[in-house]
Amino acid sequence: MSASSVRWSRSLPSDPTSVTVVKDASGRYFASFVVETEDKPLPELDWDETETGIDLGLSSYAVLRGRKIASPKFFRRQEKKLRRAQRKLSRCVKGSNNRRKAKLAIAKVHARIADQRRDFIEQETTQITRESQAVYLEDLNVKGMAKGERAKSAHDQSLGMFARTLEAKCHRYGRDFAKVGRYFPSTQLCSACGSIEGPKGLEGLKIRKWTCSCGAHHDRDENAELNIRREGRRTVAEGRPDT
Ligand SMILES: [Zn+2]
Repeated sequence: MSASSVRWSRSLPSDPTSVTVVKDASGRYFASFVVETEDKPLPELDWDETETGIDLGLSSYAVLRGRKIASPKFFRRQEKKLRRAQRKLSRCVKGSNNRRKAKLAIAKVHARIADQRRDFIEQETTQITRESQAVYLEDLNVKGMAKGERAKSAHDQSLGMFARTLEAKCHRYGRDFAKVGRYFPSTQLCSACGSIEGPKGLEGLKIRKWTCSCGAHHDRDENAELNIRREGRRTVAEGRPDT
């Protein structure tokens, strides 16, 4: 392993006390260091101005107060590569050299996907933690709305990792964090009058804007975020942020 092929996932916060090296299925070496860290809260932000609900979905990866995180395109690109590599493998004779190479190629694509997913999630959750004093996250498994089972599981895996990473960072840096129950009707609830008549289920996925019978016009995502934010605030005020 030459020095130029070393890739640091982040800089070390202090001198390591130990190091472990492992090799993965794609032939890459990983070194993990044990370091002592202190959980230092970030400077406190104005609560009212920076608390955010987070609506996780498919058309956008996540909807936050005032901004959206687009779904990363690299997964689709890598999935194409993966399918090509798998077709190649299926044509190889068992026990052959080519088959071994084809298997290694597949492991490399998987490793690349895992790297990109981790980088993306680290980056996005760090930014959210920096800019928000309170984070209210919609609990997962709300929406069985992905098209293919495989796409769904990859996407769900990614969202699950996003949620866990974000929660850990909020605790580490002194941010309020609460989950909003999975049966809370964040999309259907009108944030103006409280009636439940917004877009529903799979058919409702395409509806991006709607008007409530009370006369309020809604952007689907902004309405959902506001509902999650209010519900999260209520949950925290009741002192049960983990329900
Ligand atoms: Zn209404």
